[in-house]
Amino acid sequence: MTTVAAYAAPAAKAPLERTTIERRPVGEFDVLIDIKFAGICHSDIHQVREGWGQAIFPMVPGHEIAGVVSEVGPGVTKFKAGDHVGVGCMVDSCRACDNCRAGLEQYCTRGAVMTYNGIGRDGEPTYGGYSQKIVVDENYVVRIPDSLPLDVAAPLLCAGITTYSPLKHWNAGPGKKVAVVGLGGLGHMAVKIAHALGAEVTVLSQSLRKKDDGLKLGADHYYATSDPKTFEELRGTFDLILSTVSAPMDFDALLSLLKTDGALVNVGAPEEPISLNLFSVIAGRKTLAGSSIGGIRETQEMLDFCAEHHIGAEIELIRAEQVNEAYERVLNSDVRYRFVIDTATI
Ligand code: NAP
Ligand code: ZN
Ligand code: ZN
Repeated sequence: MTTVAAYAAPAAKAPLERTTIERRPVGEFDVLIDIKFAGICHSDIHQVREGWGQAIFPMVPGHEIAGVVSEVGPGVTKFKAGDHVGVGCMVDSCRACDNCRAGLEQYCTRGAVMTYNGIGRDGEPTYGGYSQKIVVDENYVVRIPDSLPLDVAAPLLCAGITTYSPLKHWNAGPGKKVAVVGLGGLGHMAVKIAHALGAEVTVLSQSLRKKDDGLKLGADHYYATSDPKTFEELRGTFDLILSTVSAPMDFDALLSLLKTDGALVNVGAPEEPISLNLFSVIAGRKTLAGSSIGGIRETQEMLDFCAEHHIGAEIELIRAEQVNEAYERVLNSDVRYRFVIDTATI
């Protein structure tokens, strides 16, 4: 076992504080990673606050991990010491179900092992990226192309793949009008990726405060959802709407913005249920769907795509002791556009 410095929440809703955790010895197929940067995802905050239900404490959040391999087990073939690598939301899955075999480990029918707030195959709780080292089976590690700096690459491991996967699945590309709802961590990645895929991109934000940024990130249009005129003007406009909003939204209003046969895909994971008028999907044969992160193969594909298109996250690099303050700012939609912890400060 290796003792590693980490930032953890000792109990639900408690502030995070410095602590130490144990990492397992490097097994035959394991990779030991020196974590350099860890992104702060809104999912970290939902879980620390038990907004999604009972959680495991102490909790070391963090599933946007970028680092450098420092040691590999004897059976490891894909990585060697010195490689730049990433770990996202999963560190294992059953590897045998239809979804795992299809590269859709995130939908493992037995339940993937989440990077933190999960229980590993060894029966021990998992601890995430707000720490200095992690040991992960090589099959759940991805390569970060050398041309992507590790700090701006870290958020790709969740925010990047969670938006890339549905944009690809629902064919965002040339000739398609795509709306991104919410310009936060996921939303700003969605804008960059949808733009790089060739789609015509519209941001739907609560206000016009971040309009200049949105246009610079690659959006063609920008509207405020607080303005009722937005919903009149854009009625029936979009082929695809990707909602990244962390709180309950008026999905009937969003569905009214779709063309016939359009799809509203939700990736936001609010703590409260929403209500829906089913006529919103009946009229216009519309699809309401959801999507969860992405498989390991697709995560690698996304990283290679981002390297090719020079896409990284817009980040605010923070010291570990600023994490609680950063959480408050995320909760106030005051993030431009991802906080990333420099793990050397833990
Ligand atoms: P974030 O950085 O906080 O961004 C969320 C954005 O939603 C905010 O910036 C804000 O954008 C908008 N928003 C917040 N509260 C709102 C409200 N009450 N009404 C309307 N809009 C509101 O969060 P994130 O890290 O991108 O994560 C977003 C959500 O996705 C979270 O619920 C997270 O847990 C979930 N998530 C899901 C997956 C998945 O696999 N499906 C993966 C990662 C994260 P504007 O200021 O532009 O309005
Ligand atoms: Zn996340
Ligand atoms: Zn499985």
